[in-house]
Amino acid sequence: MKCPCHSGNDYKDCCEPFHKGKLPPTPTILLRARYAAYALNLPDFIIDTTHPECFYYEKDKDKWKKDLEEFSTSTIFKDLRILDTHEDEELGFITFVAFIKQGDEDATFTERSYFVREEGKWLYRDGIVKSGIHTNEQMLEI
Ligand SMILES: [Zn+2]
Repeated sequence: MKCPCHSGNDYKDCCEPFHKGKLPPTPTILLRARYAAYALNLPDFIIDTTHPECFYYEKDKDKWKKDLEEFSTSTIFKDLRILDTHEDEELGFITFVAFIKQGDEDATFTERSYFVREEGKWLYRDGIVKSGIHTNEQMLEI
């Protein structure tokens, strides 16, 4: 099976090891693994890699899990395009376009997301999301 992160690689050589517990070494690899986890309906991976202070963090894990499952099963994950990455040892900024469809509706969005590394583990910290396709420069203007 090709990896749902659309890298073109086999899932077993791409995001699967991270879904099975290996720590993603960079924010970009974590972003790809999170996209694939949404596509494969693996809500625990999303919850486990979201920073507790993130805007999207939900204290009620059961409700959050249900919401994630609903999103994953009602969405088609068509493609992932990474526009820009800035990474160092502790911080990462990534601009990407997630090409998705919900029902017959195109729900593609562009996001500038922010990752932090805590105790050796990369976490999704927050993101600015804009619907549709935008350039990295447009995302930096927000
Ligand atoms: Zn992958």
